[in-house]
Amino acid sequence: MHWASASAVVFPALLALCAGQQQQPLSEVGHSGSSASTSQHAGAVDAPSYRDKLLELLEALVSTPSSNGEENEVGQYLVDYLEQEGYQVDIQFVPPPKDHPNVKDRFNVLAWNGARKSNYKTLVTSHIDVVPPHIPWEIEGGEISKHTIIRGRGTTDAKGSVATQILAVNQLLSTNKHVNPEDIILLFVVGEETTGDGMKSFSDSLKNMSPPLTFESAIFGEPTENKLACGHKGALFCSVVAKGKDAHSGYPELGKSANELMIRAMNKIYDADLGSSPLFGNTTFNVGRFDGGVAANVIPARAFVDVAARVAVGSEKDGQKVVQKKISDILNEVDDKAFTLDCTHGYGPYECNCDVPGFEPIVVNYGTDIPNLDADYVRYLYGPGSILVAHGDHEYITVGDLEKAVEDYQKLILYALNQ
Ligand SMILES: [Zn+2]
Repeated sequence: MHWASASAVVFPALLALCAGQQQQPLSEVGHSGSSASTSQHAGAVDAPSYRDKLLELLEALVSTPSSNGEENEVGQYLVDYLEQEGYQVDIQFVPPPKDHPNVKDRFNVLAWNGARKSNYKTLVTSHIDVVPPHIPWEIEGGEISKHTIIRGRGTTDAKGSVATQILAVNQLLSTNKHVNPEDIILLFVVGEETTGDGMKSFSDSLKNMSPPLTFESAIFGEPTENKLACGHKGALFCSVVAKGKDAHSGYPELGKSANELMIRAMNKIYDADLGSSPLFGNTTFNVGRFDGGVAANVIPARAFVDVAARVAVGSEKDGQKVVQKKISDILNEVDDKAFTLDCTHGYGPYECNCDVPGFEPIVVNYGTDIPNLDADYVRYLYGPGSILVAHGDHEYITVGDLEKAVEDYQKLILYALNQ
């Protein structure tokens, strides 16, 4: 992977871009009929000193669309922001996604204080890509309080994490003189929502990075409802094709219905025990796409499905294979010749350290970039907002969730630094 100094490569373009992209004050954005100014927000009874800064950063991030492949602009904004905050910044180019070959350069952003060292105590990381479609930033009118709701794509997954991580590190460094700024390094990656190519590129580059880069712990920002995750389920993604034989629907005995086989097989898989564990619960199964046949009066010769399982059993590297074997056995039971199972990728459940005083534990069912960061480190997974609204058309977060995250990230970073 190619790393480049951000100031040398990106900065001239960035200056021009950001000049045209200056964010509006909060008072002018999404306040229906409100004339409250940001300084009034800061003076609100429950407001921490960093509220305005936090909301301004999140607004800029959320207002910049960044679905997979389109992360150039938000990456450039982040580079500029971190440099203005006094960080040294490098960028790491990541090749365009296969289905978007002609996008502008996209890159991971790495930021630190002082000279770049080889060994860090903790890596603080999240992702800057979001799922489509873009949903503009909208903040509830009236005086801003902890209950104020902010809507927009990425508010929860995961620009809320990105903004609160940056604010937390800044806050910690400015208020705690015992923290060595050179113990912390920040990483914001592209591509988490699709193939994880951003984090995979970073992980691959660790081998030949100069100077080398190691870290004792990594704090991943994803929506965990402000709780500390003890781990997340694994995943398995497959396609299944059923091959039958076509015939007139009046004479089913002359054909072999691929749809019928597929329905019976999927039904069996839904009813099967695909494995469970005390920490992660049951493995769950989803037929996300189902298609087959050509017309109502034809016995269908071909059916296919795309399926995903959320894996609760087995080891990190191999848990998905346990589930794949169970699915394969069921397909064979239904018909030992008709099915082809093609599993493209997967991994087992990943545990994280949730044994930190002052945090409520949670286990989550979604995937993260943790499996893509292949190195020896202690993992933490924490972020503001709920996965239940992420990826939906009503994605939102509250000001209180964000501010709790700024406080909690500081606690978590301090804890990780002192291990
Ligand atoms: Zn995410």
